[in-house]
Amino acid sequence: MASNSTLSRRRVLKGAGIAAVGTGATALLSGNKLAAQGGAPAIATNSQAGRKYKAFVKSGPALPEVVELTARGLVGNQVLLRVEAAQTCYTSVDQVLIAGTPAGNASIVGHGGVGIVEAIGPQVASCRVGDRVILNLHGACGRCFNCLNMRSDKCRSGQAGPQQPIATMANGTPVFGRTGAMSELAITGEEMCTPLFSPSVSAAEISMLTCVGGCGLGMTMTNIHVEAASDVVIFGGGPVGLASVLGAKVKGASKIILVEPIQYRRELGMKLGATHVVDPNQYKTRAPIPNAQGNGDRFKDALVDHLREMTKENHDRVWSGAGRNGPHHVLEAVGGDKIKPKSHPQGPDPTGVTVLNQCWELGSSIGSIVTCSVGQPNNAFVSLPASQWADGAKHHWPGTGGGTNDRRDSPRYVRLMETGQINFKALVGKTYPLSQTREAYQVCADREVISTVVLPNG
Ligand SMILES: [Zn+2]
Ligand SMILES: [Zn+2]
Repeated sequence: MASNSTLSRRRVLKGAGIAAVGTGATALLSGNKLAAQGGAPAIATNSQAGRKYKAFVKSGPALPEVVELTARGLVGNQVLLRVEAAQTCYTSVDQVLIAGTPAGNASIVGHGGVGIVEAIGPQVASCRVGDRVILNLHGACGRCFNCLNMRSDKCRSGQAGPQQPIATMANGTPVFGRTGAMSELAITGEEMCTPLFSPSVSAAEISMLTCVGGCGLGMTMTNIHVEAASDVVIFGGGPVGLASVLGAKVKGASKIILVEPIQYRRELGMKLGATHVVDPNQYKTRAPIPNAQGNGDRFKDALVDHLREMTKENHDRVWSGAGRNGPHHVLEAVGGDKIKPKSHPQGPDPTGVTVLNQCWELGSSIGSIVTCSVGQPNNAFVSLPASQWADGAKHHWPGTGGGTNDRRDSPRYVRLMETGQINFKALVGKTYPLSQTREAYQVCADREVISTVVLPNG
């Protein structure tokens, strides 16, 4: 394996100091020395056992803290990364900021990140020491039923079965965290890793691909077909919705309408490719229609009416496209508010439930509706007209990363960043060191900037 090393791999190894393959010899080498030898060093995987590192860990109901961990040795197909960058997804803000939020095993906070492979277990085949890899949102074993059916976003091997601890706290508590990257090191399975080879794209930008940005791109570039010149309405202008704006633009959509209550996010949406923006707080009127019948609307909704008006054809000739009642595609990236924004307005319904109904109502009779959010109250239900749901032709694509298949899609998303077709620089609002991870989540929860990214190794 060492003889297959390339110049680029040696370059990214520079400064790593320790690297490993599963052969058994041990060494500590500088990047320059590696280059002189013309190959990656051979170091035992279990040389990683006992390695000390810092990580942001949640243990029990208390707020998470940066603590020192001791790594366990790598086994099987485990991979060890030196983490370069990890994004703070809004879905974790309660875990980080609200004391008493229940937790299972002690685990490293976060889901996703990007880093350089420093060591691999003896069975690893898909990445090498020195590779830059992104931590996938979902495992992708490539063998289970769902993977074989092009739905690795639902990979069974990545989600089923017990996980094993990857490190130990000073008091002996085992620590888990196969996707947690708020840490100097990440230890995970290779099914969670996708190697990427675009050195001109920064780690902070790539880190936005796990979950948030990848989810937004996936909503426009995977399960649904956004035809050139189609109309797309996107509810929510956080990093997920803005990534959808970028994806819709790449796909050649005609009207890209962003619905977002916060002004700076609407303005950023326009810079990234939205053709129109709407403040939903200007269209809050919604009332049941008495004695509504058939497949018609059940609510008179000012926002839905306004968006229909914005996307209707300007003529009545059905043989020239008239008659469509709503945009071709409706995307939802809103969700429930876990924490109220600090200095910006909330949307009309902080539970995030009304917007799910509005998406269904707005969707045209043969159009697509893609939803991806979380955080709605546990006891909340979406209510749809039964006959529309049972006998209509609206196509609903729900959840899980917007349909992104990490191994298939992350490399092509990064190629689009490399060519400038997708601007993820604009999605990286502010970066923080590991010691300020809680602050990074606080700013994310407050929605003071579009997103925050932690750089655990500075
Ligand atoms: Zn997330
Ligand atoms: Zn699988």
